Amino acid sequence: GSQQVDRQVDSVCPFCGVGCLITYNVKDEKIVSVDGRDGPANHGRLCVKGRFGFDYAHHPQRLTVPLIRKPGVPKDFGDAPRPGDWGGAFREATWEEALALAAGKLKDLRDTHGSKALAGFGSAKGSNEEAYLFQKLVRTGFGSNNVDHCTRLCHASSVAALLEGVGSGAVSNQVNDVEHADLIFVIGSNPTANHPVAATWMKNAAKRGAKIVLADPRVTDIGKHAWRTLQFKADTDVAMLNALIHTVIEEGLVDEAFVRERASNFEALRENVKGYSPEAMAPICGIPAETLREVARAFATAKGAMVLWGMGVSQHVHGTDNARCLIALVTVTGQIGKPGSGLHPLRGQNNVQGASDAGLIPMMFPNYQRVDDAAAHAWFENFWGVPLDATPGYTVVEIMHKALAPDSDPHKIRGMYIMGENPAMSDPDLNHARHALASLEHLVVQDIFMTETAWLADVVLPASAWPEKTGTVSNTDRMVQLGLRALNPPGEAKPDLWIIQQIARRMGPHAPHFVSSLPPEGAVRALGRPGGAEGLDWNYQGDESGVAAVYEEMRQAMHAAISGISWERLQRESSVTYPCLSEDDPGQPIVFVDDFPTADGRVKLVPADIIPADERPDAQYPFVLITGRQLEHWHTGSMTRRATVLDALEPMATASMNQGDLDALGLQAGDVVTLRSRRGEVAIHVRRDDGTPAGAVFVPFAYYEAAANLMTNAALDPFGKIPEFKYCAVQVLRG
Ligand code: SF4
Repeated sequence: GSQQVDRQVDSVCPFCGVGCLITYNVKDEKIVSVDGRDGPANHGRLCVKGRFGFDYAHHPQRLTVPLIRKPGVPKDFGDAPRPGDWGGAFREATWEEALALAAGKLKDLRDTHGSKALAGFGSAKGSNEEAYLFQKLVRTGFGSNNVDHCTRLCHASSVAALLEGVGSGAVSNQVNDVEHADLIFVIGSNPTANHPVAATWMKNAAKRGAKIVLADPRVTDIGKHAWRTLQFKADTDVAMLNALIHTVIEEGLVDEAFVRERASNFEALRENVKGYSPEAMAPICGIPAETLREVARAFATAKGAMVLWGMGVSQHVHGTDNARCLIALVTVTGQIGKPGSGLHPLRGQNNVQGASDAGLIPMMFPNYQRVDDAAAHAWFENFWGVPLDATPGYTVVEIMHKALAPDSDPHKIRGMYIMGENPAMSDPDLNHARHALASLEHLVVQDIFMTETAWLADVVLPASAWPEKTGTVSNTDRMVQLGLRALNPPGEAKPDLWIIQQIARRMGPHAPHFVSSLPPEGAVRALGRPGGAEGLDWNYQGDESGVAAVYEEMRQAMHAAISGISWERLQRESSVTYPCLSEDDPGQPIVFVDDFPTADGRVKLVPADIIPADERPDAQYPFVLITGRQLEHWHTGSMTRRATVLDALEPMATASMNQGDLDALGLQAGDVVTLRSRRGEVAIHVRRDDGTPAGAVFVPFAYYEAAANLMTNAALDPFGKIPEFKYCAVQVLRG
């Protein structure tokens, strides 16, 4: 900004996983503009969200004082709350009163019904430090591993397949490595809308001659730059990908040396794909056999072929199988462990990678150390000084089911603490999810706006927006990046780290402090005996030194992964890639060069077969509903719909259909239709988009007034426990 400003503060864009570095320009205690900084992921570029999506922080609907639900006010959406309106359901309270009630009731439920009665949802919109502290509170204070966040709704299946196959859930190559690829295979992703700056690197690569293959039931903008577009029938990923693998094997294009030295279980894969010839799969997936063969050949013979994928791959009951096929494809062709190749699940939220790394997941401590691994369990008991539960906790959707379990169920969830997540908009089958939230005996929600979830709370705690905090976030490229505080929170709103500690202090540990015998030598990994942890005093300072102390404790808990990334280094460099083992390690942009972090150092190939969607269209519900996002709005819309420019660009919910389907139904763009599934319905304007396949409707889930997830199906992938957001059956009714 050329305008006169009072100060400029360096931070990170709060929206997508690309992780663009930004500078906030602040005048009179308000952000007046945002500039792109020369970060490793963005080189000065920003998309419309990063550039204009900042004034939500100054919105008059910000929560500025703690709220307590008035007695007797029903928890329902009867007269659907308008954003910012709490219709007299709550009264204002002091922090002391609100915290005493919030923590006191959680403590009561824990002490009366046991540790399994509580659960916590953290946030991929918070910092690594907030994620770390939140999961520490759940594990040590609630006393169970019932902690999760929206990664469950996002790439949980991709991560399940990656951990099983290559031993690490993070990307193998960074987005800007497309510069070194000959072939860029984009599947189940609309990068122009959802990872816009990353999409510009893909387009640049296409300009210098790289071949983009877009494989997606929806033909989106990146298709204009594609060498081949595979508009496969929704839900047929495994059929199409197995046909590619079949071709590679049948036509003698396997990288024999790579498979011999670096993979296991190839025979089983070869056997399995025998039945998946392109000719047999063409009628199933809708792509001509010759096109499938041509793409398979180009992929196998490219000097570097790189796979980037999004929720279109992961959000299916067969999401893990879809990702297994992608792992197999790069392995049989030797397209991993070198520049311009590999596997890149594009992370959605700005910190979904970091929140997962920090342990905000029910089956793993920080850095993916399993809670049921004896050595890891012993290490963390010693580190935190409290006995810990050694059984994995429940995941997001399971927690909603457990909230509705009968009273006799010893694992019935009765109380929850939700920080910065909005499951009353983002969960599948919202009528069920909202009912589950409403039936909790005690719900504490910490957020910056009166979200649909906060509407169902007993206590609402006003938190800080990203520009009001210092903290680190980790992007899709495994870069840990530092954002600095640019503003003070409004009114009595407080930093999230402070609120978590206030709850923790009032609840106390779930069991008395204990001095364990130190774990066996073998259990004390990498960094040796823990030391310097704050233990359970919950006494981190309120200023930047407190954030740094949490970060440094997390760095110990994560062992080797980020051991070379000190707080001082982040202050100097802003962004450092991990794995990073020492202060002078520049970080490793490409991993798996020599081996895979699996038990035997090899990729484990896992064959996959076709499993149909849980709910297929039929005569009564003939259309397929595909949900997702659009460029201007972020997830449940709580921030971007309160950003003036973004709201002006896309003010209302729309359902995209192609011209043929509009004609067949006698509809014109702009008409209002009712979309109805077996679970719920919305009224919505139709929009023409000929990239939407015949027989399908695409709806973004950002709009509370036409909440797409009222209709979605909560059926889960058995491995990643991710719901099938990308496929359910709906009716399209006029008017
Ligand atoms: Fe922000 Fe993502 Fe846009 Fe970059 S590409 S400005 S990180 S939303």
